[in-house]
Amino acid sequence: MFINGKWQGSTHHFAVHNPATGEKIAMVPDGGEMEIKQAINAAHTAFPGWAATTNHKRAQILYQAYELMLKHRRQLAELMTSEQGKPLRAAETEVNYGADFLLWFAEEAKRIYGETIPSSRKNQRFIVQYQPVGVVGAITPWNYPVSMITRKIAPALAAGCTVVLKPAEATPLCAVRLFELFEKAGVPSGVINLVTASNPEPVGKELCTNSQVRKLTFTGSTRVGRQLATLAAPQLKRVSMELGGHAPFIVFADANPEHAAKGATMVKFLNTGQACICPNRIFVHKGILLSFLDTFRQRISSMRVGNGKDKGVSIGPLVNRKALDKVNAQVEDAVSKGAALLCGGKRLEDRELANGFFYAPTLLSDITPDMLIYREETFGPVAAVIPFDDGDDVIAMANDTEYGLAAYVYTENLGRAMKTFEQLNFGMIGINDINPTSASAPFGGIKQSGLGREGARAGLMEYLDTKLAGIALP
Ligand code: ADP
Repeated sequence: MFINGKWQGSTHHFAVHNPATGEKIAMVPDGGEMEIKQAINAAHTAFPGWAATTNHKRAQILYQAYELMLKHRRQLAELMTSEQGKPLRAAETEVNYGADFLLWFAEEAKRIYGETIPSSRKNQRFIVQYQPVGVVGAITPWNYPVSMITRKIAPALAAGCTVVLKPAEATPLCAVRLFELFEKAGVPSGVINLVTASNPEPVGKELCTNSQVRKLTFTGSTRVGRQLATLAAPQLKRVSMELGGHAPFIVFADANPEHAAKGATMVKFLNTGQACICPNRIFVHKGILLSFLDTFRQRISSMRVGNGKDKGVSIGPLVNRKALDKVNAQVEDAVSKGAALLCGGKRLEDRELANGFFYAPTLLSDITPDMLIYREETFGPVAAVIPFDDGDDVIAMANDTEYGLAAYVYTENLGRAMKTFEQLNFGMIGINDINPTSASAPFGGIKQSGLGREGARAGLMEYLDTKLAGIALP
């Protein structure tokens, strides 16, 4: 753990495992209430000094951290593959994406401009300034163990906030390595603090209820996000919530089915399907269904599953046994209710896969609303196709979910693309585009997918309070 600029152990430890092999790869200090309180105190004490540094100085430190991250890209990626399981190339892509937030917010730190606003009264002037909200509590997930941290810490530091981070218990090693780099980049003592813990509950509770913490930023499940927002509510603490999703992927009759199937493969199986923006319901017009399914099945079947450190592997393990069981249950439920299983559909346990949590990339068609997969987030390598035709209101079907994170549309018709974009109730819409994400673009959802945005100017505003001066002239 890293508290007030010092690396700190604990009398208790917990194990980190490689999900591809089941091997124990490290023991990590197990923090609790005492450590989280120490960390919050350190962040609280460091806040006035950090908030008073110039924006240029903060930008310089973030830029330094960006350079260090790129310099250690390979090492960070290897560590990520061993604790999280994603293939090395994907891990490197994530390190680059994570580093982008440091660069973007280093630049943006210098542009936290205020405003002057004309008043309706002759002798009055209005000035608005933006000030850091204070100590930020951050809780991050295991699926993107590097970028979900920089996406929070970079804007917080740019704004002048101090931070206490609790990373996911499955992937604390990437957080430790990142903090070593932040320390080397010159982040002053107490400005960022790291508490690793096997039991997130007491730590999360303290971050929500300690009045020294002025904002909570969370990425994880809707269930936990709701609990944390409830705990933070009595203090009217600011919260940003990046929660679950159930993305529709709509392929209209005028789309190129091969191109759409290629896109669907890439985004559905991203991180073995363990991303909140992965499509969970793939709506395909019946007129092009056969050619879409043909390409989709071929592409899915040719993906190599294995240990992410091996060359040519594009599908790694699921994170744990529970994830595997959930995927299995959804597939069995769908098949028992009449879905067509076109490939995959089983756990892979041969030879070197025996001790990992591997599931065969799976394609199901003829999915109907009574199946679990139609409503529940899958978070695994299972593509669920729902055929539709002209008589169906596919937009209403796509909107029929409690979630509202990402959605995808394939069409060659500009008017239809625009109309669909406006009618879909989701925070991010990819139009013939499977990657509507970037450090410079606002990421986030509506409905049960969350509150607030990360990345872009909007992501910085989450860490700033608006302060108004009304000035009466003589
Ligand atoms: P997932 O189901 O994807 O693992 P979670 O929402 O359980 O998502 O986990 C995301 C993050 O939230 C992790 O850092 C985890 O430790 C943390 N977390 C889980 N439960 C709680 C809780 N009750 N209080 C605070 N944090 C929690």
